[in-house]
Amino acid sequence: MSEVPLAKEAADAAPPAEDLVVLDKVNKHFGALHVLQDINLTIKRGEVVVVIGPSGSGKSTLCRAINRLETIDDGSITIDGRPLPEEGRELARLRADVGMVFQSFNLFPHRTVLDNVALGPIKVRGQDKSLARTRAQALLDRVGVGNQAGKYPAQLSGGQQQRVAIARALAMEPKVMLFDEPTSALDPEMINEVLEVMQQLAREGMTMVVVTHEMGFARSAANRVVFMADGRIVEEADPHQFFDNPRSDRAKDFLSKIL
Ligand code: ADP
Ligand code: MG
Repeated sequence: MSEVPLAKEAADAAPPAEDLVVLDKVNKHFGALHVLQDINLTIKRGEVVVVIGPSGSGKSTLCRAINRLETIDDGSITIDGRPLPEEGRELARLRADVGMVFQSFNLFPHRTVLDNVALGPIKVRGQDKSLARTRAQALLDRVGVGNQAGKYPAQLSGGQQQRVAIARALAMEPKVMLFDEPTSALDPEMINEVLEVMQQLAREGMTMVVVTHEMGFARSAANRVVFMADGRIVEEADPHQFFDNPRSDRAKDFLSKIL
């Protein structure tokens, strides 16, 4: 193992706020569908929050709103004390503070694995090319795919591609990482290699929001579980309390189906 940590605090002049991501009365509609309903959620620096809930409850929309891939109708979202801007350079900068890993790996198919990781820092952060490549290689080593750097995404297994996607997000030195069902598209034997990388990140103090049905991960890595249903946060609890003693009928019903 190299000594380069996966999570590197971006140098920032502003004093660090303890509340890194704050959603205040966030509402969002898709036409008649009220997909996010009065969402209040605060994620502290270094906290790992697992979001679970039935399909269609708004989990992906919540992640996409935090990354400003979706607009919101009202309420506010702040990241490290700054409101999410509407557009322009400020938005690009803020979005770079939020790393996102999707269910589908979304790597650039015609770029090598190394380039997939190095391109963001070069193009968005203006990083020196050889420095970006050196850092990309170090990140690939850390997620265990350093020997795949010269290959193209399609030549890798799903688990390897998802680890490259994590390295690519980390290369931007985000303040918070969002994972939207990162293991749902993987063959079962590849799930653990991705969860292990996420566990390592969590141990290193990365602030993480993780949508997942992997209850083992939630129990061992989460500081808090947020249960969503029908566009609302129905329950928030410590993982052991949530899994062993859910309070709401919706959560009890959901857990009885997946456990
Ligand atoms: P989850 O991730 O919890 O499964 P989503 O956030 O993906 O839920 O979706 C919540 C609801 O919003 C679903 O009913 C979905 O069909 C709907 N939805 C999601 N994205 C769009 C969109 N771009 N336009 C219209 N409806 C959408
Ligand atoms: Mg989803």
